[in-house]
Amino acid sequence: MNPFDNLNISNGWLELFNVDERQPCRKCFKSRKYFCYTCYTVNSDLENKIPRLKLPLKIDVIKHSREIAGKSTAIHAALIAPDDVTIYIYPDMPTYTKDDKVILVYPGKSSVSLKEFYNKAKNQAIDESIGAKNCYGEVITHALFIDSTWSQSKGILKDSRIAGLPCVKLQIRLSQFWRHQKGSPRWFLATIEAIHQLLVEYTYVAKDTQLCDEYDNLLFFFRFMYEKIHQLYEHDKLMSYRRPVNI
Ligand SMILES: [Zn+2]
Repeated sequence: MNPFDNLNISNGWLELFNVDERQPCRKCFKSRKYFCYTCYTVNSDLENKIPRLKLPLKIDVIKHSREIAGKSTAIHAALIAPDDVTIYIYPDMPTYTKDDKVILVYPGKSSVSLKEFYNKAKNQAIDESIGAKNCYGEVITHALFIDSTWSQSKGILKDSRIAGLPCVKLQIRLSQFWRHQKGSPRWFLATIEAIHQLLVEYTYVAKDTQLCDEYDNLLFFFRFMYEKIHQLYEHDKLMSYRRPVNI
């Protein structure tokens, strides 16, 4: 069974198979196949074929400068939701104000599930708003992701600008990422899968609904690349197809 069959992804990704030639990026003029991974722009002939999303919270991604730009799946989010996704190249980082309600999506020692974090923060906000006699605002305004290897993340996490942020861990889901490092378990998600998973969980807790397909189009490019890679290689030769036992 195809892992994307149950997701609500626009069929436009099939049209990406028709792209044969590279085009100059509209901003930097470098030759690109589908999109520019340094300017985060879609090639002009694809511009109207790509779904666009408005997200319920801002997504910030810190990418390590040593990671190869073209490899990052975080770019997919910036292409599909350009108004709500910002990518920072470390040591560049987002600066938050005291009004921003930021969570760091990272499976650290002190991390809790999104559901636990959200409900606790919501109750606290309700209590405070009763005291202040006004309505409570958003419980989460920004979610921060770190797009780098585990050892690079450790350095980034120590940075004082983000060190104190509350940590949220995602529920376990199997990754469909084809670029898995040998030996890493299949629940190490690609960044775009993690962003999608967060929004699925957020919809579930914030809107109290089981209908969580609103943001599936974040996986638009991911699905295309998954299908393309699986056409190029035999299934059983791909690491991502070695399903872990006992999950
Ligand atoms: Zn460019």
